[in-house]
Parts: sequence; structure tokens; C-alpha cells
Amino acid sequence: MKEARVAICEADVAARTATELTTPVALDLWRDGPSTRSRRDCADIMGVLIDRTPRDSVIAQVERFVQSGRPNQIVTVNVDFLNIAHKDRSFVSLLNAAALAVPDGMPLLWVSRLVGQRLPQRITGTDLLTDCAALAARAGYRIFLLGAAPGVAEAAGRVLEARYPGLQIAGSYAPPEQGDFTVEENARILDLVRATQPDMLFVALGTPKQERWIYENLEALGVPLCVGIGGVFNFITGRVPRAPQAMQRFGLEWLFRLLLEPRRLWRRYLVDDTRALYRAVHYAVRRRATRTHETPAGVGSVVSSPDV
Ligand code: UDP
Repeated sequence: MKEARVAICEADVAARTATELTTPVALDLWRDGPSTRSRRDCADIMGVLIDRTPRDSVIAQVERFVQSGRPNQIVTVNVDFLNIAHKDRSFVSLLNAAALAVPDGMPLLWVSRLVGQRLPQRITGTDLLTDCAALAARAGYRIFLLGAAPGVAEAAGRVLEARYPGLQIAGSYAPPEQGDFTVEENARILDLVRATQPDMLFVALGTPKQERWIYENLEALGVPLCVGIGGVFNFITGRVPRAPQAMQRFGLEWLFRLLLEPRRLWRRYLVDDTRALYRAVHYAVRRRATRTHETPAGVGSVVSSPDV
């Protein structure tokens, strides 16, 4: 049997926890518990761990989450996440506590190559929602859609039902769009979601609000799969057009979105994310240089892994 060789995330995390992170990271990097010996194989980009899992394996993993009945969070990491993580290290802990992190952006793939931990492919929030909807239609799982402007999640549900015959939308709800939820509003959302007992929950509240909300309410929600998906309901209902395939392939989706909404997005893309990308490239180059001087037993050592 061909022996797979992967860099072990936990060695990296242990080293980082000791040196870089100000907030302690409580990580469970075992996918299904240590007894199964199924380890996560991640790229480490500025302390944020991103799974090196191809799209079809992500969906197989989603199926295992649903069958487990236990709540799990998936995060769709992009350069904006790295910018937020740089300013607020607690966001790193939150992202690394997710059951799975997928790379939602070509720049992350480029940086992963520089780090020497190549991510296999980009997996966007739209990819995740549509793949999960197809799986749910096949397997009889139920989906709840939360967030976006009034009526948008509901319309997204109708689009998905038409596209994936047999799909059951358990419910949808658009909470008020300002700041954090009040205690009453939060309780109302939890009641609404729990009453419908969905298998999957997609949350469009923008980053980092949606990731924090899922993280803080994961156990109370009890939904096997919870994912923050930003503007995806707007894309699939056609309210906001998606960049042409060629722009997506060359990592230029940000430019398309910037041209559509320059006032809202110029700072994010031209200032914050440009700086975050510069820092990520710098980090990758530094790590690569450090690694060439390490012994095989050091951080990022290679070991055999049964699941790759
Ligand atoms: N949104 C919301 N409540 C909020 C903030 C945002 O429902 O408090 C929605 C907003 O209407 C949009 C989505 O969350 O549909 C976030 O879109 P954005 O384009 O900012 O997300 P991105 O994909 O860029 O993270």
C-alpha cells in the first residue's frame, strides 16, 4: 500500500500555541475521535488551519457529520478571514475549533503552495451549499436557511428546491440586520431552528458575525452541520451576479465584487485584504525557509497517515 505522507497539524499548533498565539487554542484535530486514527491533514496559513480535503471528500465528511447526529461547524476561509484573524487572535481559535475548514479563495491555494502544504482545490460557500443540497435531496436530509435580507433566504430555498427535486427546506428566517442579536432575538432564532430539527443549517450574516454566532450557539442548536456562507443566498437567487468562471479561476472574483459594490467593499479588498495577503505570503516564505533547516522530527515532520 502506498504510504501517504502528510504534515501533522497538531505539531504545528502545539508549537504555535507556545510561541505565537495569545489566546489558548483548544483543538480537537481528530476527525472522529482518536480511536479511529483519522487525522485531519491541514495547511497552516498564519496559524489558521485549512483542511487539504478535495470537494468530494468534504461531502463524504458532511454525510458522516449528519449521521453522527452531533453538531459540527464548517468554516469557509478566505483572505478576509486572515485579516480578521490578524487583528483578533480569538478568531483563530474559533476557526481552528471548527470540524472542517475549506479554502474559499484562490489566494489561499497560492499561499498553501508557498508554505509547502498544497491545498487541492478551492471550495466556495456556493459549492458547499449546492453540494449539500444535492446530498440532502438524495438522502432525505433537511436544510434550514438563516440570514440575508428579508425574503432572500426563502427565495434561495425555492431555487434549491427547484434545482434538487425532493429537497426538503425545513425553514428559513431573516433576523434583523443590525449588530449582535438581543438575548430575546437569539432565543427566538434558536427556537425557530430547533423546532424544525434540520440536519444542515446555512447562515448568511456576514463574516465574522456568522462564524461567531454558530460557534457560540453550536451546542444549543444541535444541528449536525452548520456553515456560515456570507452572500451566497444573494448569488443563488441572482440578486447579486457571480463573477464569470474565468475571473473565478484566476482569483479575480474580488475585482468583480468590488466593481459591483465599490463603496462597501473598497476598503476590504484594496486595503485590508491586500495587507492580509502580503502578510500571508511573507509568513509562507519565512516558514518555508525555517522548514528547510529543521530535522525530520521537528515541527511539520512527515508521518504516515491512514486516511490520505
Ligand atoms: N447580513 C445579515 N445580517 C447582518 C449582516 C449581514 O443578514 O447583520 C447578510 C447580508 O444581507 C448578506 C450577507 O449577510 O446577505 C453577507 O454578505 P457579504 O457579501 O457581506 O458576505 P461575504 O460573502 O462578503 O462575507
